[in-house]
Amino acid sequence: MTFTENPRELLQKLNEEIINIQSASYRSNSDPVRLTAVSKTHGPEIIEPLIRAGHTIFGENRVQEAHAKWPELRARYPEIELHLIGPLQRNKVSLALKVFDVIETIDRLSLATTVAKHINKEKLKTKCFIQVNTGEEPQKSGVAPKDADAFISQCILDLGLPVVGLMCIPPSNEEASLHFALLRQIADRNNLKELSMGMSADYSIAINFGATYVRIGSGIFGPRSDYHIT
Ligand SMILES: *Cc1c(COP(=O)(O)O)cnc(C)c1O
Repeated sequence: MTFTENPRELLQKLNEEIINIQSASYRSNSDPVRLTAVSKTHGPEIIEPLIRAGHTIFGENRVQEAHAKWPELRARYPEIELHLIGPLQRNKVSLALKVFDVIETIDRLSLATTVAKHINKEKLKTKCFIQVNTGEEPQKSGVAPKDADAFISQCILDLGLPVVGLMCIPPSNEEASLHFALLRQIADRNNLKELSMGMSADYSIAINFGATYVRIGSGIFGPRSDYHIT
């Protein structure tokens, strides 16, 4: 069954599967794992059926694209919670904070400082995750694992940034579980509750390692479309 045939049924199956994986895991007594539906590259006409089927949490990786797609949908569906899961440039912070409820990709001090200033000045309810480059890949964003503790406390204590958790994207050619375990260790020793980890290919592993949010794109919408902003 595909998303376009029956979004409601696909969503229900996926949610049931997530519940079953969590029930069998060490976190069976914790809050339910939440599903972030990654709607990047898909237009509003694809996204809306999922909202109408009851889904509320969505992820986008580009600020401009999200700004083109979401304000109108959000006006009609105020319960939406939109997460930025892609890199954020400092000159787009102001726009990003208008469009997104959660910024998952805080990865450097200059960005953290700008985001904290906006959030505090405008008294926004935005929540932040810090992205950790668990694989230390040069082409990927995120703080290095060895710098994570210092960066986290700097964000929280010095800047007053509302950090709730950590996010990672493991290297595609490595065992994801090692990266999920590392991210959880860093979160545990810094008393951070939320872990955004796991995508279509590895969300069941991520849940077993303590994910509180999984980010699923192609597993819901199928292959990415060629949606472009104009
Ligand atoms: C695209 C994307 C996802 C979703 O990937 P799928 O493999 O399609 O599930 C998750 N996280 C991030 C950061 C992404 O950019």
